[in-house]
Amino acid sequence: MRKLVHILIALLLSVSVASAKDFKKVSLQLQWKYQFQFAGYIIAKEKGFYKKAGLDVELKEWKPGIHMEDDVIQSKSEYATCRATSLIDISNGKKIVYLASMFQSSPLVLLANKSSDIKSIQDFKNKRIMATKDIDISLFSMMFSQGIMPKDVKVIQPSFNPEDLLNGKTDLIAAYISNEVYVFKSLGGKPLIFNPKDYGFDFYSDLLITSQEYIEDNPQEVKRFRAASLQGWKYAFEHIDETVDVIYNKYNSLHKTKEALLYEAEELKKLAYYTTDTLGTIEKQKLQRIYDVYKLLGLVKKEINLRGALYSDYALDTELTTKEKEYLAKHQEITMCIDPNWMPFEHFNEDGKYEGMTADYFQAFSKTLATNFRVIPTNTWTQSIEFAKERKCDIFSLAMETPKRKEYMNFTSPYLVIPLVVATKLEVPFVSDIKDLEKKKIGICKGYAFAELLKIKYPSLNIVEVEDIDDGLKRVSDGELFGYIGTLASIGYKLQNNYIGKLKITGKIEESWTLGIGVRNDDPLLLSVLQKAVNSLSQEENRNIFNKWISIKYDQEVDYKILWKVIAFFSFIFVVGYLLYRKQQCLKESLQEANDKLEAAYEELQEIAITDKLTQLYNRTRLDQALEEEKNRADRYGTHFGVMILDIDHFKQINDTYGHHVGDKVLEELAVILKENSRESDVVGRWGGEEFLIIVPELNSESLKQFAHNLKDKVEQHLFVKKYKLTISIGLTRYHENESIETTLIRADEALYISKNSGRNLVSSK
Ligand code: GH3
Ligand code: MG
Ligand code: MG
Repeated sequence: MRKLVHILIALLLSVSVASAKDFKKVSLQLQWKYQFQFAGYIIAKEKGFYKKAGLDVELKEWKPGIHMEDDVIQSKSEYATCRATSLIDISNGKKIVYLASMFQSSPLVLLANKSSDIKSIQDFKNKRIMATKDIDISLFSMMFSQGIMPKDVKVIQPSFNPEDLLNGKTDLIAAYISNEVYVFKSLGGKPLIFNPKDYGFDFYSDLLITSQEYIEDNPQEVKRFRAASLQGWKYAFEHIDETVDVIYNKYNSLHKTKEALLYEAEELKKLAYYTTDTLGTIEKQKLQRIYDVYKLLGLVKKEINLRGALYSDYALDTELTTKEKEYLAKHQEITMCIDPNWMPFEHFNEDGKYEGMTADYFQAFSKTLATNFRVIPTNTWTQSIEFAKERKCDIFSLAMETPKRKEYMNFTSPYLVIPLVVATKLEVPFVSDIKDLEKKKIGICKGYAFAELLKIKYPSLNIVEVEDIDDGLKRVSDGELFGYIGTLASIGYKLQNNYIGKLKITGKIEESWTLGIGVRNDDPLLLSVLQKAVNSLSQEENRNIFNKWISIKYDQEVDYKILWKVIAFFSFIFVVGYLLYRKQQCLKESLQEANDKLEAAYEELQEIAITDKLTQLYNRTRLDQALEEEKNRADRYGTHFGVMILDIDHFKQINDTYGHHVGDKVLEELAVILKENSRESDVVGRWGGEEFLIIVPELNSESLKQFAHNLKDKVEQHLFVKKYKLTISIGLTRYHENESIETTLIRADEALYISKNSGRNLVSSK
């Protein structure tokens, strides 16, 4: 019996040891202290989502001195959350990757006391704003778009206490809509909120990041971590009460009340789903636009290169769909054409066996897809091309996409990127630019993709097609050709085997050769299957294959390495010389370019400042302007115009039944109906919430009513998302000469009120 107990204990121990070993320890650095802001991560940990993903995640609260971006770069944490200002870090060369943006719009707003003399942003002039020094860019943009410059306001040291608004220590404070606004309200204050998203500046916030190095080394883990985190967020928003309890009981370092946490949850949920149904959505374009605003405001000067900065750049989507699996089950083998003389990439060896780097890659692909690749023997690459055109083979193992080839082949993204070099006789001086080769006879292997491309790009080159690399190098060595262009790897391989002391690599061509799998273009499923195989190649596999075929050669040929140092050195000299020569010209050009960009960015900024983000209609700001413009025109030239306010009937029901984002979808759909049924000259905008306003110039009373009835009917007939039927009520009026716009609007509102009170789905005018 005792023995049995011992065995049991031993067994239990071994199980727990084994499982602890199975979880990889990683840490997530948060950008602030625990609160609902990090609910998704807390839930993913507490509910075991991370464990299921094989991860033991340590959550780390923010402490003074921690810079989240540096933390992941310096591998102090594998993951972190940060603000959109991280774009500045990226432009400074820090290689971070955005995995998700939890909030589609920043929770940061400016808060004023309703009973102060601040009514609009224009009133901010000479006012005090309590905010940290690096006052958030979205707040600045909002002010800027309304004509308030940074110098117009006085930024003062923050106390983070909304009470200071009540006791007059400041006029405005930068506040979280999810936190300080609640505190202010509970102190009895009446908040007046200026929210950048109402002015079109919906900037990302709470971005989940890791480093490029980390995602390259751990692609699958990053994928799992991201998925588990998003699962946590989804759960948190769907179970707010439960989540708040967890935070309140276990993670409440800020000592918040339950009510405050609940308030925070509701506000953040709106921001997480703002303009999207997919949690964590992040788009390159929007990031670029945010960065443009930083630039416009003069906070950064450099360009930003977002290549590699997004999760989607890593093509971690490698799972096969059912259709693709069926396809593979049905096709027993895939036939493949190769280049029979292209070492170290590929060839047939003396025994006729297919070998080289590509052969190794295809061994990996074969394993990933559990499918067979059969190599069709050919004698030359030209013959392989013929075979592919005649559909005697399904794919090219390794080829570059060119316009000509696109006629019969599609291509996966590249899995090999190879520098191109030129080989010449020993006495030829260094070639720094392909233009140095002008008018000289240059050999390129017949049918090679870069021949096609170089011919288009550099028409003045005298390109001579040769049979294969042996033919090309022989003709260079015989003096028949000046040089031969090919890949560093293949030329290097031949030189050291056959031409030591006769030929050398004389320079590097700027273009690289990017090579993927070519796939017959009448078989899209095969393309997507192979693309996924390419996606799933790990950095390590890549390195191993490359080293197996390339590094051995480097080791044997010491000169080869030195040669590269020489090339690098000369390239540098060349670059410096070139720069000196071009300096004047460049300076002029870049100034002009900067100016153009600034103008374009400014126009864009103006555009987003007047557009309602959700519906893409004009926003309130633009409507106010347009009303003033119409009034001035009417008073001056005797023109006339009507104003129509439209309000959805019982809109709350939609939100209550289907949730806020279905409500948003309805608003979007309604916007389209209004826009499509209005004239070019009508100004259609979102007045606020679920109210719309249309300014209708030059219609008499009768036509105006007809127009309104038509809109009302169109809406009534439309089947909205979720097959929802809805109606709108409309209030109509016409501008009376020399009255204030406010008076006109009051009449329109009264008319709307009549429609609502008389049973809704009606048009009334006053
Ligand atoms: P009625 O106008 O017929 O009197 O009823 P209603 O239910 O439409 O009431 P009301 O106009 O007073 O309320 C508007 C509601 O619209 C309140 C708010 O929840 C919702 N709402 C306002 N803005 C938005 C928004 O941007 N998105 C969503 N989904 N709902 C919004
Ligand atoms: Mg309303
Ligand atoms: Mg309504």
